[in-house]
Amino acid sequence: MAESQGNEAAKNAVETQPVMRSNLAEGKENVQHSGGSKIIDFEEQSSDIKIGETCLVRRTNDTWHNAEIVQTRSNEMEGGRREFYVHYKGLNRRMDEWIGTDKLNIVQEQSDVKTGESAVIFDDQPDRKITRNQKRKHDEINHVQKSYAEMDPTTAALEREHEAITKVKYVDRVQIGRYEIDSWYFSPFPEDYGKQPRLWICEYCLKYMKYEKTFRRHLGECTRRQPPGREIYRKGSISVYEVDGKDHKVYCQNMCLLAKLFLDHKTLYFDVEPFLFYVLTEVDRQGAHLVGYFSKEKESPDGNNVACILILPPFQRKGYGKFLIAFSYELSKYEGTVGSPEKPLSDLGKLSYRSYWSWVLLEILRDFKGTLSIRDLSNMTSIAQNDIITTLQSLNMVKYWKGQHVICVTPKLVEEHLKSAQYKRPRLTVDTSCLRWAPPRKANNKIVKTKK
Ligand SMILES: [Zn+2]
Repeated sequence: MAESQGNEAAKNAVETQPVMRSNLAEGKENVQHSGGSKIIDFEEQSSDIKIGETCLVRRTNDTWHNAEIVQTRSNEMEGGRREFYVHYKGLNRRMDEWIGTDKLNIVQEQSDVKTGESAVIFDDQPDRKITRNQKRKHDEINHVQKSYAEMDPTTAALEREHEAITKVKYVDRVQIGRYEIDSWYFSPFPEDYGKQPRLWICEYCLKYMKYEKTFRRHLGECTRRQPPGREIYRKGSISVYEVDGKDHKVYCQNMCLLAKLFLDHKTLYFDVEPFLFYVLTEVDRQGAHLVGYFSKEKESPDGNNVACILILPPFQRKGYGKFLIAFSYELSKYEGTVGSPEKPLSDLGKLSYRSYWSWVLLEILRDFKGTLSIRDLSNMTSIAQNDIITTLQSLNMVKYWKGQHVICVTPKLVEEHLKSAQYKRPRLTVDTSCLRWAPPRKANNKIVKTKK
């Protein structure tokens, strides 16, 4: 009852508030300085907007961008506010978002837009020659989605289907620990949890909740202060837990559902038993706070040492991603195997991996005297030969000679790469003396200890 009254009040507030949109560079002053006919009743106009239409939308960086209207909803958590789900043309679907009517330009005079648009169109100018490598780098950094035309037909068909199913991220915000995080992609939270604009998640047991009051009550009741499973690494405030999907099914499922909010192409959510989860936390007096994780198949026929890897957005760009990548290779070294991350990698994943691989290989090549084959490098690092080849290719250090890849390096070239900011030493490195772990399959007697 109280809620519906709130909705009415909010609705009225919107309806009586005039907004001017014809001047794209408008500031607050312009809105108040009402210029007669330029004032448009916003709510009235927005009701004409149909799914599939293209509108101009003001993004949070204050630029205007062409966007497709994908869905509409009335957000009960915002007093029944009318919202539109928009996809910005040419940008990664991560940028798709729910917006209020205040961000929308209904006057669709797209040709009028001068500001912002230049930042949107990059590669279409025929007079600019861009190499494929430059485009790839640019696309990765700017998170540009590949167009269907750039994909092979099967990939394009699968991608279309994937996009149809995952088009709208209904859960567009989560509260976890002390962070309120905007989500990037759709995630299949079951039942009506998946349709909530916002979920509250316990950072220790990962239980997700629809209401803040349930969440507050849970915080008082939940006794967990760290991930389940066994702590296998601890240095300073950084700690890693190994969690078996079979022993802690719900925890691992919840982790996958949470991770999906930030990964576009993740398909594993519920069948977690064949996986181990390596959960990275920051420890303080309150407990071990979730930072990120990677999952790994217990038996990987494809030789993957990482299935899925994620650092939660508040912890990104602090070196944690590369720490987890390094960690996964340390485990492979202990197993005496070579591993590679499962494909496809996300755009951010690709950047982190390429940077990690480059750094590891450059470090070896700098210090090594004598001859090295790609197989030698692979044995030393547990990095798969293919990943080594593509990395060395991107560094211009490999040639194809008589049916084989040959490493061609000069000390000067190595030094030049190492000096560039791209390959600087990772901020966080794995100290193997702090790792208490043995490969499960080869040490069956020891693994019994992990069961309580
Ligand atoms: Zn809990």
